[in-house]
Amino acid sequence: QRRATRTDRGASGSGQGSPARGGLVVERRLFVDGRWRESRATLEVLNPANGEPLGRVAAADATDVDDAVRAARRAFEGGWRSTPGVARAALLHRVADLIERDATHLAELEALDIGKPVRQPAVLDVPNAIATFRHFAGWADKIAGSTIPTAGYFGQPTHSYTTREPLGVVAAIVPWNTPLMIASWKLAPALAAGNTVVLKPAEDAPLSILHLAKLFEEAGFPPGVVNVLPGFGVVAGAALAQHPDVDKVSFTGSPEVGRQIQKAAADTFKRVSLELGGKSPQIVLDDADVEAAVRGIAMGLFFNQGEVCAAGTRVLVHRAIYECVVDGLAQAAAAQVLGDPFEDSTTMGPLISRPHQQRVLSYIDGAKADGARLIAGGGALPGHDGFFVQPTIFADVDNQSTLAREEVFGPVGAVMPFDDIDEAVRIANDSTYGLAATVWTTNVSSAHTLARRLRVGAVWVNGWAAIDPALPWGGVKASGIGRELGWSGILANTEEKVVTIVL
Ligand code: NAD
Repeated sequence: QRRATRTDRGASGSGQGSPARGGLVVERRLFVDGRWRESRATLEVLNPANGEPLGRVAAADATDVDDAVRAARRAFEGGWRSTPGVARAALLHRVADLIERDATHLAELEALDIGKPVRQPAVLDVPNAIATFRHFAGWADKIAGSTIPTAGYFGQPTHSYTTREPLGVVAAIVPWNTPLMIASWKLAPALAAGNTVVLKPAEDAPLSILHLAKLFEEAGFPPGVVNVLPGFGVVAGAALAQHPDVDKVSFTGSPEVGRQIQKAAADTFKRVSLELGGKSPQIVLDDADVEAAVRGIAMGLFFNQGEVCAAGTRVLVHRAIYECVVDGLAQAAAAQVLGDPFEDSTTMGPLISRPHQQRVLSYIDGAKADGARLIAGGGALPGHDGFFVQPTIFADVDNQSTLAREEVFGPVGAVMPFDDIDEAVRIANDSTYGLAATVWTTNVSSAHTLARRLRVGAVWVNGWAAIDPALPWGGVKASGIGRELGWSGILANTEEKVVTIVL
């Protein structure tokens, strides 16, 4: 590891300007009803690589939320719901084209705002957003029902069929770790299905989504179909979750806030989908390709600084190869390069904020106090203003310890041994979470056995985080409710209606 270099990117200059090219961000406007309008309040955005202000952006209040929801309702009733699917598809393809055109700028905004090494959004977040809009453009004109034979109606034959109709106004609330990608996961299926959307980015990372709002405007979406309201969770987020005219809240974030959203939504029977946290296992069987497993586990721990819902933070290793994997992981951690997100050599940037860095460090201190064996990292980068945490791995972790049970949301792994598949399954399933699991094995039968027995929403064999817009995404237990992406994303954004004609 080398010490991070102090970067002044985005923290010099003043007034309007491209943050990715060194200007302060001043975006005091909200995107409501197809227009940009001034907000009454603002929020400060910091550069996590050096702790300095990047600028201020608008912060929506309850009145702004009400205006945006009304605009979204008008747009829904006024024509969007009955726009032909092919027309919605064309607009979604246009947004994909514009994201493609601005790919470099969007990747730079993600790197600047969140601290992720700029190469990562360039190869994952931005291409995934483009692919998501294209995937759902493909669904927009194929949302069909079915005809269903019945026993008849008092002796008369019937003709029964179903249709799938949009829900109405969807409120999308997204976190700060992969904002562009998760915003796309919510916008694309909702819009393809004929809903209108009010989207609230996280207060810590609104920049890429503000740019995305400009692309929706440029693409020519009718006013009110997409509204973007940066703002604080307890103000704008809570107002959206409570608003009586919102039909569905699609939320990605922490279990604590997910619980509050579900309670707020209950009063008006809103549909809710919750994509929450995880404590995902990576299971290494004794027949695994150890080199590939170590590479994949390191990625599952340190990609995006470990600020990933599906981070593979519980590493379960067969005892026969345990020390070999532990050594490999210690080397993989030592090989990480912390530093300026805009340096080519950087593999890990800072965490999102000072409070989050302190939270992650307190988990590390707790694991040390619990007696886990520290094999890599174990602290911040001393003397550095950015919110860095070293890639950290503990071995011999007890699955009942705080480190193994709570989501750290940082670059901290917990390694533990097992003796056979039954024990691996027992440890893996002994968690309040159930988002994803990775299995490393060369035995196809073991792979299928584990895939069947693990209580999670996704199982990856011999690769970590193989996500795709065509594949359903979501968790079980405290990892959430519902699925997004793929055909499941269309189902989650429509209601089924049955029509019966007595012949
Ligand atoms: P968070 O729950 O603090 O915030 C998420 C969003 O909710 C933000 O936009 C925030 O402003 C808003 N919010 C906060 N309080 C609110 C309230 N009372 N009412 C309405 N909205 C409110 O989460 P975070 O720190 O931004 O993100 C980290 C969490 O997100 C982790 O737990 C992570 O696992 C989870 N996550 C899950 C997935 C997934 O797909 N399952 C993906 C990414 C992140």
